[in-house]
Amino acid sequence: MPKVYFSPSFENILKVLEKFKIPERVFPIKLHMGEIGNKYAINPEYVRKIYLLFKEKGFEPFLFDTVVAYSSPRSTKQGYLDLAKRRGFNFARIVIGDKGPKRRFEDLEIEIAKEIAESEFILILSHVKGHELTGFGGAIKNVGMGCVSKKSKIDLHSKTSFNWESSKCIFCKTCVNSCPSGALTFQDSNLVLKGNCIGCGICMKACPTKAIKISGLQRNIAISCKLCLENKEYICINWLGNITKYCDCNSDPGPIVCQDIGWLVGRDIVAVDAASLWLIEKKCGKIFERLHGIDPWLQIETAEEIGLGSSKFEIIKV
Ligand code: SF4
Ligand code: SF4
Repeated sequence: MPKVYFSPSFENILKVLEKFKIPERVFPIKLHMGEIGNKYAINPEYVRKIYLLFKEKGFEPFLFDTVVAYSSPRSTKQGYLDLAKRRGFNFARIVIGDKGPKRRFEDLEIEIAKEIAESEFILILSHVKGHELTGFGGAIKNVGMGCVSKKSKIDLHSKTSFNWESSKCIFCKTCVNSCPSGALTFQDSNLVLKGNCIGCGICMKACPTKAIKISGLQRNIAISCKLCLENKEYICINWLGNITKYCDCNSDPGPIVCQDIGWLVGRDIVAVDAASLWLIEKKCGKIFERLHGIDPWLQIETAEEIGLGSSKFEIIKV
């Protein structure tokens, strides 16, 4: 079972990090450096200490993220660089990526940022918080959405599909009643979409006969993450602090919805995200599901199903 190291203390987590072997001298630290005005995204001081830990050992890490697809200073490389420096990330070399090689899994093709595709090792530093479309965002989302081109980001959001197998349906209408968007209805004994499906997967999970299959955003992100990490080593650091309702892409990420918990480190991205969610739910209940009407575990379950990692974990408190 994958080990996930946990501590409320950042200093203790730095001591754990010191013990990991890193295969490459120059490597990216993949992180989200925060939207303009967002006061809850990761504090640059934490990042600086992680950066220095490796720099003092002779490594050459650089801070890495990609341009975003929505309207923001972060939608251009120069705009993101300027913003990152203004936010306090001026102690290290910063690289903002976009295009790169394409990879495919089943029906999904994604374009991975060149710098990620060419790295043998990635240090994945993620802030765990809520997300309106995926329930929560952790390491899987940081990589799956954050390491791909602008075009692929748009594709990941738009390529969701809904499939219903009539032969399996017992017409209980559980799906219709559980859909948070009111998107489902029966017409002449056929289950059809009448409105905007956000790909949350709640109907799929609620259906007692598995008659519904949704390929949604959570699944797309898990697949994208798997493609980005193919043939690579990585270490995940998840920060469970400033746990906001919405993600770091918002200038105003909403209120803090759960008290600070601490830091997790591990080598299995699914296990680290699963342990993060487990700790949050232990402290604050099913907070993300309550707030967003989306089951955040679907991302973890899909990631495990496609072979990205294990949803089982052993927490080692340090
Ligand atoms: S995936 Fe979510 S939004 Fe789409 S039909 Fe199912 S429950 Fe409704
Ligand atoms: S929940 Fe499943 S079995 Fe029930 S009506 Fe919907 S598709 Fe049919």
